[in-house]
Amino acid sequence: MTRIGAERAAEKRRRALGVPEVVDGDAGDEPIGALPAETVEALARIVVVLDHTKDLVNIAGVARVMMNFGLTRLRLVKPDEFDTWRIGGIAHKSQRITEVATLYETLDEALADVSFVVGTSARARTAGRSYTRPRDVAAQIAERVHEANRGTVAIVFGREDRGLTNEALDRCHAVAVIPTDPAYKSLNLAQACLLLAYEVFLALGEGARPLPKGRRATRPPTQEELEATFAALEKGLGAIDFFKSRKPESVLRTLRTLVSRAQPDLREARLIAAIGHEIKNKIDRKG
Ligand code: SAH
Repeated sequence: MTRIGAERAAEKRRRALGVPEVVDGDAGDEPIGALPAETVEALARIVVVLDHTKDLVNIAGVARVMMNFGLTRLRLVKPDEFDTWRIGGIAHKSQRITEVATLYETLDEALADVSFVVGTSARARTAGRSYTRPRDVAAQIAERVHEANRGTVAIVFGREDRGLTNEALDRCHAVAVIPTDPAYKSLNLAQACLLLAYEVFLALGEGARPLPKGRRATRPPTQEELEATFAALEKGLGAIDFFKSRKPESVLRTLRTLVSRAQPDLREARLIAAIGHEIKNKIDRKG
């Protein structure tokens, strides 16, 4: 099937299932850039483990988050339901994650080859565990995955209704607790995953990339050009008798302060000058 064909089929399935589309903006998501190879390699050393997930919509949400933040390896320990076709109908293009996801009978099997296990929990339950915050644990994860010889890192998420069991938390080297309003601590599974994935992404340096400039700014005006702007404004305002009993110097001073605070570029300064010129021309023509 062609890509367009596959997308149409996914859309039909989503409608047939009556599942709300949680995914948007895909048309514009065609790759224009790519993550640097170094980041891709580092992210490939991370596995996301979902323990006994109840709801397929959450698996879809996690797959989507993983795609957003360059994570590729999903492991599922006995999910209540798992169907790449249905998940694809909810999270567009998620097959690239779910088709290579691996299923396990036990959490121990899913973690067998992992050397650093990060659990996640809505609440710090038993004393004696290493609880941490996402930002701190993300720094630790980033440090590990930068080096190939430091093994695989797992980030583990618990079941929607009960979270990770104590036995599961015993397998974790660190347990990340996302700070929340104490009155409502439990995040949606995929949203918790989003925060962890985002922090890891930032810790890998991806938040520091410069954004494209909004528009091409011209150079700043020279003093002479700025003076011409104010002169044009003064003439225009004079032509409509704006000053009346006001002192022109004092009005001009306020306008100067305003304009210098805005630090206009040349194009903007010329626009202000043009306003002055146009007013004057119009009045002169009327005679
Ligand atoms: N009632 C459960 C909440 C489960 S929510 C509990 O008490 O733990 C499903 C999963 O989302 C959790 O197991 C955890 O992996 C993640 N999660 C939800 N809220 C979180 C939070 N505040 N901090 C870290 N992980 C959280």
